[in-house]
Amino acid sequence: MTDKAPIRSIVILGGGTAGWMTAAALSKALQPNGIAIRLVESDAIGTIGVGEATIPTIHWFNQLLGLDEAEFMAATKATYKLGIEFQGWQGDGHNYLHPFGTYGSPGDAVMFPHRLIRAWLGGHDLSPEDYSLTTQLARQRRFISPANDPRSLLSTLGYAYHFDASLYAGYLRKHAEARGVQRHEGKVTEIEQDGETGFIRSVSTDKGERLSGDLFIDCSGLRGLLIEDRLQAGFEDWSHWLLCDGAWAAPTPADAEPVPFTRSITHEAGWRWRIPLQHRVGNGYVFSSAFQTPEAARETLLAAIGEPSAEPRLIRFTPGRRKRAWVGNVVAIGLSSGFLEPLESTSIHLIQTGIGKLLSLFPRAGCEPLLAEQYNRIFAREMEDVRDFLVLHYHFTAGRSEPMWQHCQTAAMPETLAYRIAQYEASGRIMLTGEDLFRDASWFAVMTGQGIRARDYSPMLDAAPEAENLRHLEAVRAAVRQSSERIPRIA
Ligand SMILES: Cc1cc2nc3c(=O)[nH]c(=O)nc-3n(C[C@H](O)[C@H](O)[C@H](O)COP(=O)(O)OP(=O)(O)OC[C@H]3O[C@@H](n4cnc5c(N)ncnc54)[C@H](O)[C@@H]3O)c2cc1C
Repeated sequence: MTDKAPIRSIVILGGGTAGWMTAAALSKALQPNGIAIRLVESDAIGTIGVGEATIPTIHWFNQLLGLDEAEFMAATKATYKLGIEFQGWQGDGHNYLHPFGTYGSPGDAVMFPHRLIRAWLGGHDLSPEDYSLTTQLARQRRFISPANDPRSLLSTLGYAYHFDASLYAGYLRKHAEARGVQRHEGKVTEIEQDGETGFIRSVSTDKGERLSGDLFIDCSGLRGLLIEDRLQAGFEDWSHWLLCDGAWAAPTPADAEPVPFTRSITHEAGWRWRIPLQHRVGNGYVFSSAFQTPEAARETLLAAIGEPSAEPRLIRFTPGRRKRAWVGNVVAIGLSSGFLEPLESTSIHLIQTGIGKLLSLFPRAGCEPLLAEQYNRIFAREMEDVRDFLVLHYHFTAGRSEPMWQHCQTAAMPETLAYRIAQYEASGRIMLTGEDLFRDASWFAVMTGQGIRARDYSPMLDAAPEAENLRHLEAVRAAVRQSSERIPRIA
């Protein structure tokens, strides 16, 4: 086979959320190319079985697959998610919401935070929540889909879903199999590698099956059976920035009236998620084993959630990323490529971007190394972007006095994050690049919520007197209030 030969067959190793998302997307996008796609998974090993909260980028993925929203929500027991409520991150009793929409009226765009900063510097104690329609809907348990008309206040809305990731994987499996993806059950026990190129040629299972392929997608979970065990891509460990290395997860019965947001609640050595689905509530406590034993962490979770409807499960992890997520003819997608705790619900998004990058850099059978180089560069950047956003939450926690939190407050930040904070503090500007996942409204919500204050605002606003700025803010606040009251409560 020459380097220019097309890819004829793909093997996906792993049938968790990452494996079936990849299978569904590749079978849809590559259908015209007639590429055979096979997926191998082991019932004996199973999947990680957590992962319930998403961010608004989930929409482009579901649209790529052509999913019907109502059908998808019913199949995955999904609820709407308008943002994340952070409880206690500035001390007990403190609470703020990171909404998925933007602040202000549609025309305000990135200038809106500057308007609030100007008012704050003038001594006015205004809450950002009053200027975010998405936050108001979340707080009042209301929902409406965002409007496409850019002049409508409803165009400032943003939303995602809470869903059962295992049901999502099962739902996507149906779509993938309907498009010809073949599933093979069995534990991969042997891996055949080309002595010359180092490419993976086949994987064999304990059932005696041998699956050969031109391209292998490693979706084997945290261990990274191909990318790490075999190809030794290397791991960049970020535990000095993100101390949490374990999580206890346990469901409780469904809420009668689920709120349309995730809760993230601080405890002595980490934080607890609470995610309301249609059929249950997902709970978990992400903790640092350097500051609390797993046994004590389990007790912390149980004391907070009461009687769980299933035994709590412990999951251990190391925060960080593979140094290379694409090596030779293997691309790692999902937990096999690295993991960052679910504080901002980014893992499923990172699966999507892995698939998106693979499709836009889709190789020939020779797997031109420059394509892998580009993939790995973007992947590194994406992971660092998420990492910085997470560290932001931990570092600025002035109201928390427990040892773990004090440690986080004094630990060095990544230089990229320190630079962004310095820029914001100096001039109120949120310095983003085109590729940044979290945009102005997210950074503003979390920086403000974590107690960071800017010392200045954009001088562009000085063209109008301060009183006019205050009048504008009051008009926005009134419009948000009136609009939210007209939107129906969630049934
Ligand atoms: C505590 C915690 C909370 C999380 N919460 C969220 C969240 O709220 N939002 C979010 O977006 N993400 C979250 N995630 C991440 C999310 O769970 C994962 O990104 C997602 O489930 C994808 O997992 P995966 O498919 O990569 O791996 P897994 O689910 O582990 O699947 C691995 C697959 O590989 C197969 N396999 C492994 N070895 C072999 C072998 N030798 N032979 C054959 N098959 C094999 C397994 O059988 C399985 O099918 C969370 C993760 C953790 C740890």
